[in-house]
Amino acid sequence: MSRVYNFSAGPAVLPEEVLREAAEEMMDYKGCGMSVMEMSHRSKVYDQIIKEAEADLRDLMNIPDNYKVLFLQGGASQQFAAVPMNLMKNKKAGYIVTGQWAKKAYQEAKMYGEAVELASSADETFSYIPDCSDLAITDDMDYVYICENNTIYGTKFKNLPNTKGVDLVADVSSCFLSEPVDVSKYAVIYGGVQKNIGPAGVVIAIIRDDLITDDVLPGTPTMLKYKIHADNESLYNTPPCYGIYICGKVFKWIKKMGGLQAMKEHNEKKAKILYDFLDQSKMFKATVRPEDRSLMNVPFVTGNDELDAKFVKESKEAGFENLKGHRSVGGMRASIYNAMPIEGVEKLVEFMKKFEEENA
Ligand SMILES: *Cc1c(COP(=O)(O)O)cnc(C)c1O
Repeated sequence: MSRVYNFSAGPAVLPEEVLREAAEEMMDYKGCGMSVMEMSHRSKVYDQIIKEAEADLRDLMNIPDNYKVLFLQGGASQQFAAVPMNLMKNKKAGYIVTGQWAKKAYQEAKMYGEAVELASSADETFSYIPDCSDLAITDDMDYVYICENNTIYGTKFKNLPNTKGVDLVADVSSCFLSEPVDVSKYAVIYGGVQKNIGPAGVVIAIIRDDLITDDVLPGTPTMLKYKIHADNESLYNTPPCYGIYICGKVFKWIKKMGGLQAMKEHNEKKAKILYDFLDQSKMFKATVRPEDRSLMNVPFVTGNDELDAKFVKESKEAGFENLKGHRSVGGMRASIYNAMPIEGVEKLVEFMKKFEEENA
């Protein structure tokens, strides 16, 4: 068996320990004679898996009692519609557009009400986070929306926007569980798990309970009502059972590693190795303003498309997978999520140094 260093933006690297455990339990989960993907979601065994996953997540993120945790499907993209359908009581919300995912959410919201673009960093190819200290937020807005870590462009909100008392909704798909978070500052936190937590197919939404009501936009499908899923503890219909089971294992792995503070330190250490190299390199250049750089997604370029292509090809041959940048921006991107070991980043930097020398 040989494993590569996988820098994919998502679905992405998972802890080897978790994969090994899942493999061991594949044929016979804890003596019940079947795999977790073969068992009823109404069984006692599965009930314990989903309850324990929720309890561990609550523990890790220190989620207050007045927030519900929902395990949903449909990808983060489905929440682009679910959020306005459930929260737009006044049919008005503010969006901060910091990349493609935020833009998609903003465009989706326009189908349901008045979505106001409060700020944007499109003018410089989303390479920074706009100043959000004094935005044109009005009291009649139902919420202010951000994409907290911009997977494609590699920016991250280091400070949350000043929402002037309006509820904050955040897509945290690519920074979920990468550092400690004060859940009480948000009304809704949600993310697809395939970036930093588990297999594609699960979305976790953490929602303040006063927002979970029957007062949703007319025509909201049953499956998109937060209340249906909250009332049924994420078991209204068949949930993505196996994916939730893997998420639960990753929660336990993070706890064992020391929790979110330890994850943050581990992630900062990795990101520093890569950014420090990029900042002194004569060939490679980080594309994001230093103060807004993501710990998770690190885009970089040489400034020469042919050289970029050569780098991607040779890095792959050397065992570094998925370093090609997103199709909309080109260049390279190294996604260094929780499960990427430090050696992966150290070896990548060694390889980049060698490539720079050989191609100077
Ligand atoms: C990947 C990603 C999405 C889209 O996720 P899907 O599960 O494919 O819908 C949305 N937002 C962010 C920040 C992402 O990184």
